[in-house]
Amino acid sequence: MEPQPTATRPKEVYSLTKIVFTLGPATESEEMLEKLILAGVDVCRLNMAHADGAWTRMMIRRVREVCWRTQRHIALLMDVKGPEIRTGDLPAPVDLVAGQLVDLLPNPPGGGEEGVFSVAVNYPLMGRDVSTGTTVLVDSGLVRLEVLTSSADRVRCKVVVPGRLTSRRHINLPGVKVRLPALTAKDRADIAVGVEEQVDFFALSFVREADDIDILRRLLSDLKCDAHIIAKIEDQSGLANLDEIAVAADGLMVARGDLGIEVPMEDLPLIQRRAIDTCIRLRKPVIVATHLLESMISSPVPTRAEVSDIATAVWSTADAIMLSGETTTGRYPLECVQLMKRVAGRIEGSAAKGYNAGLPLKTRKDRLLRAAVVLAQELGETGIVVFTRSGNFPQTLAALRPWRCPVYAFTDDPKVFRHMLLMWGVEPFLMNFMPSPEATICSAFAYLIRRGWAQKGDWMVVVTNVLAGKQTIDSIEMRQVEASPAET
Ligand code: PEP
Repeated sequence: MEPQPTATRPKEVYSLTKIVFTLGPATESEEMLEKLILAGVDVCRLNMAHADGAWTRMMIRRVREVCWRTQRHIALLMDVKGPEIRTGDLPAPVDLVAGQLVDLLPNPPGGGEEGVFSVAVNYPLMGRDVSTGTTVLVDSGLVRLEVLTSSADRVRCKVVVPGRLTSRRHINLPGVKVRLPALTAKDRADIAVGVEEQVDFFALSFVREADDIDILRRLLSDLKCDAHIIAKIEDQSGLANLDEIAVAADGLMVARGDLGIEVPMEDLPLIQRRAIDTCIRLRKPVIVATHLLESMISSPVPTRAEVSDIATAVWSTADAIMLSGETTTGRYPLECVQLMKRVAGRIEGSAAKGYNAGLPLKTRKDRLLRAAVVLAQELGETGIVVFTRSGNFPQTLAALRPWRCPVYAFTDDPKVFRHMLLMWGVEPFLMNFMPSPEATICSAFAYLIRRGWAQKGDWMVVVTNVLAGKQTIDSIEMRQVEASPAET
């Protein structure tokens, strides 16, 4: 493994809530990447719906170079397109008018019927899955069709909401269980690139059931890859099976863009809340995505409602909030990140001390970690220092959601280090462990001082092991940060 940066953000841009940004033309330059990393982004998302393998490889290497130069690490998340229905190519855009007849055909249309506009779709089973009255939404619902008749080789629709149709537009079939495979040929090719380039997370689109996650998990395991899998909840099937999907995956993304087309809009806040609560209970990260700062794609200032939307996600303790169009093609990508940071910082700073006392505790170690959180809350301005080789302790501490209390998580495993970048309130550090727990603690304190996270004399709650004779005992220590002999 090549040498890596050992830390993430400086204290000035710390927030409990993590920020995911999507890479695109607006952010692909080294200069902009550097600005975003210094502004405190945590995860870079590669949206494979709009990317090919060559660009992706080039970008992953570029992001890593900038991380190396800035000595701050961010994680890479490859968002795999998944089973998406699209219209075919058109020679020119077509303005569909209300009442017009449209045929959706499984094959490239030839000739077609007089007076009926016909367009191909990439889903051969569509004629069998829809029926009279089914709603077909095209291009994020901009055009709405209603099915009049359907057969294996043709779906005849009527235009209900008119609009312009261009090539390869996304189709949503709300409430229809789509029988496309979980992974397309492009997805498999993209995943091979992601595995070779060692991305940290794969997000899978249109996850309908836990089996979809298992298919990706098996593929990754065959490729000897232990990247984490984030399930995107974006249609009614995914929603119906949310609990099993959350168990099978390593985390969830509330993909509000497609979800807002597939379910009634007024359900979105409830779904967001449910996904966050489910993930906290399962101790897995959850990302709230899409339209958080949509207006800032073209405007330097957000709407007031957008600021409140970010605040809601922060209050409800989503692990991460995500930028999409704002950072792919938007005019103000850096300003979006800075604004998210400011809003998150303001809301987090105003929260009263407290923690998630409702987290179900299963083991003695869980109880130890809760005790550490309670102690940290009692002490006030402090942090929790923890050492991990699996990421489990920090994930449980994150699920306890201790407000106003950073979790400084030290690991010697680069993969665990990067997975912790998505956990609420966890600030990961990559560090070699020493033979003795005491030397490891001193080394961690030295890191915190050197990187500006703590000063000599600050109080920390340290979760560690102590040796009692031949026994290793899990313990919580209340300690003042001191410089190690090497640092003094
Ligand atoms: C979404 O639909 O909100 C989403 C994040 O997915 P995508 O950007 O891939 O459409």
